Amino acid sequence: MIGVLPIPAAVVDQQGRVVSANRWIQATVGQALVTPADEEVAPGLRFGVDRTSRWRVRRLDDAGYLLLATAEREDAGDHLLRRFFASHDSLFVVYDQAGRVIESNQAWNQLLGYSSSDVFGLDSWTLLPPTDLETRARVEEDLRLMGHSEPRFQMRAANGTYRDIQWALHFDTNVGRCFGIGRDVTEELRAHDELRQRAYTDDLTQLANRAKLLEVLGGHLEGSGQPAVLFCDLDRFKVINDSLGHQAGDSLLADLGRRLKDLQQDGDVLVARIGGDEFVAVLASSDHGGATAVAEQILETLTEPFLLKGRSVHVAMSIGIAVATPGERVTAEELLAHADLAAYQAKKSDREGYVLFDERLRSAADRRFNVELGLRSALDDNRIEVHYQPIVRLPGSGIVGIEALVRWRTEDGWLRTPGHFLDVAEDAGMMPEIDHRVLRRAMIDGASVIRDGRPLFVSVNVSGAELTSTDYVERVLQLAQDTGFDPTNLVLEITESTFLLANSVRPTLEALREAGVRIALDDFGTGYSSIAHLRELSVDIVKVDRTFVQNLPSDQVTNSVTNALVQLCRILGLTVVMEGVETTDHASAAEQMGGELAQGYLFYRPMPYEQFVSLIRARATSTI
Ligand code: C2E
Ligand code: CA
Ligand code: CA
Repeated sequence: MIGVLPIPAAVVDQQGRVVSANRWIQATVGQALVTPADEEVAPGLRFGVDRTSRWRVRRLDDAGYLLLATAEREDAGDHLLRRFFASHDSLFVVYDQAGRVIESNQAWNQLLGYSSSDVFGLDSWTLLPPTDLETRARVEEDLRLMGHSEPRFQMRAANGTYRDIQWALHFDTNVGRCFGIGRDVTEELRAHDELRQRAYTDDLTQLANRAKLLEVLGGHLEGSGQPAVLFCDLDRFKVINDSLGHQAGDSLLADLGRRLKDLQQDGDVLVARIGGDEFVAVLASSDHGGATAVAEQILETLTEPFLLKGRSVHVAMSIGIAVATPGERVTAEELLAHADLAAYQAKKSDREGYVLFDERLRSAADRRFNVELGLRSALDDNRIEVHYQPIVRLPGSGIVGIEALVRWRTEDGWLRTPGHFLDVAEDAGMMPEIDHRVLRRAMIDGASVIRDGRPLFVSVNVSGAELTSTDYVERVLQLAQDTGFDPTNLVLEITESTFLLANSVRPTLEALREAGVRIALDDFGTGYSSIAHLRELSVDIVKVDRTFVQNLPSDQVTNSVTNALVQLCRILGLTVVMEGVETTDHASAAEQMGGELAQGYLFYRPMPYEQFVSLIRARATSTI
């Protein structure tokens, strides 16, 4: 009990031995004292470190006596307190009932910049900021009701600045004094605020970040308004980043951030940057009309070109808009996801501008979600399968190679072709894993066919994400070794857009070719500036896209273009594979143009490994 008393206090037994003492006195329990009954006890008690205190003695029934140092100013008890105060870097103050300073330690004086002579009698309540109208009443009430209070408030220093101080105040009714122990928390609060600020700010643009955005949007959603979210995604930012460098990319984002910041001047708009080239504007309350007006405003900020490395660059943006519908419960994350989805749609629609989220988009999102989930479980349960489509030499149909094509076996046994899931797998970052599985399977199956005495090449598709992974070459060659597959029988099919991905692709391809792997340029003719690339790229095989082949020979323009493409490839010494050959007309046109190899439903459809094995066995017996 005496532990909480803010003045020296002890309990002694009938014989004057210390039973307990509080931390203000370093008395040893059991130490003999003068008998308290002795009249001497009050004025001259020798006690612990303090030898001269005056004590107030109270009889505690028969148990003994409670001794309390009287805290009059020049008292020895105060002397003890003062010594204790002085040695401590916490702030100690003794106030009278009206809040005037009676005693304060060095730490307090220094912090607030008062000399000890100024301090005596200072009315501490006058040091509160003039705006702080509650603290005094609250503290006085606490002290009256409970005898203690732990407020935090600001006090004005002599130089006019304010410090934040956390106090523990005790009021001792016996002596009519308030004892305060305080801690200066100004820096702590500032650091905390700064951290908080930083945790809520995007470094590059100084706009709000995702956390802040979600908090603000969450607040709007709880209110009565109808908030709207505009998800703004720059188009082809990656190209700028790759071609002009990251610094230019950053400076573009920072500049755009500055332009968008102006929208915030209307207090109902918050602009945040939530990732790479993704900016989001949140409107406190809006309808579709209001939101599209803001979208127009945002697009307007892009009409002025950006100056990057001395060049003026125009950028475009896709905006997705989602407006909370009254009465529908939607979380901040959901609304953001809806806007994201609409932005994705805006990007795909190839028109500049914005798209409003609606239910149709939601079902598209549901599909993507289900596909992703299904694919993950297929990866876990080994339900990613590989089918093979034979590639033949023209004329005729002698099999010289096979292309491995991925298939997804769903949980209920359906077989899904890549058109159903590759877009989702790509967005979800699952392509490296899928490609790796397909390559491994194709090597195992291919090795076994070749071992059976059927020489052929195995052609495998590679996505950009997989090809640009740093250890790609190493992994391919390791897989070949593990599966007993000769890398010179491997063809890797890459699309033009993959070539354009990054400069790092080139050395990767060189290393693969050095190991004997051939590189095929897939879907040739569908990308732009194909011919320019053909010259620079280190490829061995060109696969002419089926959109060309399928218009042969009826369409005259296609005929001439395809013819020119094939001739060019031949001049460059490349092997040409004609894709999507479905009819004998296609086949003969392809052959006349000089296409050496072909692939298509006319010859074979993609098939499971077992079927392919029986096919070549049957052919072996029939053709010999
Ligand atoms: P692709 O590389 O152009 O593969 C040829 C696609 O054309 C296959 O579709 C094949 O079934 C189809 N096809 C073959 N002959 C004909 C024909 O005569 N007519 C028509 N209309 N189509 C024909 P599939 O298997 O649906 O694959 C679609 C695309 O998915 C592939 O196009 C390829 O880009 C991608 N893909 C397939 N497997 C993989 C893989 O393991 N990894 C990666 N990254 N992509 C893959
Ligand atoms: Ca292919
Ligand atoms: Ca192709």
